[in-house]
Amino acid sequence: MTKVMMNTAQVRPLVEVRDAARWFDVSAPRLERVLSRKPRTMLRAVDGVSFSIRRGETLALVGESGCGKSTIARLLVGLYPLTRGSIMFDGQPLSDMDGPDGLALRKRLQMIFQDPYASLNPRWRVGRIVAEPMLAHTSMTKPQRDERVDALLAQVGLHPTDRDRYPHQFSGGQRQRISIARALAVNPEFLVCDEPTSALDVSVQAQVLNIMKDLQRSLGLTYLFISHNLAVVHHVADRVGVMYLGRIVEIADRDSLFEHPQHPYTRMLLSAIPDMTGAGARRTPVAGEVPNPLNPPSGCTFHPRCPFARELCKTESPIMVATGENQVACHGIAQGWPMKVEISAAVL
Ligand code: SF4
Repeated sequence: MTKVMMNTAQVRPLVEVRDAARWFDVSAPRLERVLSRKPRTMLRAVDGVSFSIRRGETLALVGESGCGKSTIARLLVGLYPLTRGSIMFDGQPLSDMDGPDGLALRKRLQMIFQDPYASLNPRWRVGRIVAEPMLAHTSMTKPQRDERVDALLAQVGLHPTDRDRYPHQFSGGQRQRISIARALAVNPEFLVCDEPTSALDVSVQAQVLNIMKDLQRSLGLTYLFISHNLAVVHHVADRVGVMYLGRIVEIADRDSLFEHPQHPYTRMLLSAIPDMTGAGARRTPVAGEVPNPLNPPSGCTFHPRCPFARELCKTESPIMVATGENQVACHGIAQGWPMKVEISAAVL
């Protein structure tokens, strides 16, 4: 029996997201709304997203600004409640975070934020910043916490004496290392990384990404990696989900997605990134504007920008189907429409 349960735990994904939605009420104040007889206005930041993350892997979510990827990051660490759907962590509903065992669950998932300048308390020394999660989640003594802080600083390439300095005395890359040390303080299994390198110089980005990869290997961590930068995603991800206006439109293993992108939006994003070797200049910019999420297009929300759109695309939202290695939400791909034309700003 024990053996069967262990196998089940090992096989099931660490994170399972099913039909997750998060809407925000952005209506005018009630009195104004009643007087002007306007209905409530809901921003559907995430609207029906499903994916899973296996233990030890990195799933990256990419998409243009406002596509909902940062909202998913916050849903996964319990910073926002779900409007609809479910999120399971190691077989346990994330909503349990609000229950009596919530602290134990919270300890297992931590987040690294985009801006290491804003996410570190400028009035605290580094030692206190890194030790703070231990105070909240463990009963470690002061000497035990001090010892752990030294070990964590060493793990992210800082010196134990750095514990006595303040965040403003460090460079951007060093501050993000401090953020990583703080996130690791309570031995989490899952890290949600929301654009962790986008505020850093390009030369520093690779160092931080390599530290994260090394830590993943040595500690068996699982990552959800949020980024708008496909070159960074190519460097870190095992699988990639492409988001557009609150939904995932394509998800696949990294190599399948980069070598055989199928959804027209994925193809457009890939046509806009610099050469993967870094030698080439930026190719075509992403064409068209992301529609207003308060008034999204009907049917497939990508249809105003899609060169392959037909009448069906304007009325019916496509569902996710498996095509080869990829899962894609597109009528044209599901029905075999001719879609060979190279996608770039020239055809859009
Ligand atoms: Fe383009 Fe239609 Fe596919 Fe949407 S469903 S991506 S509009 S072909």
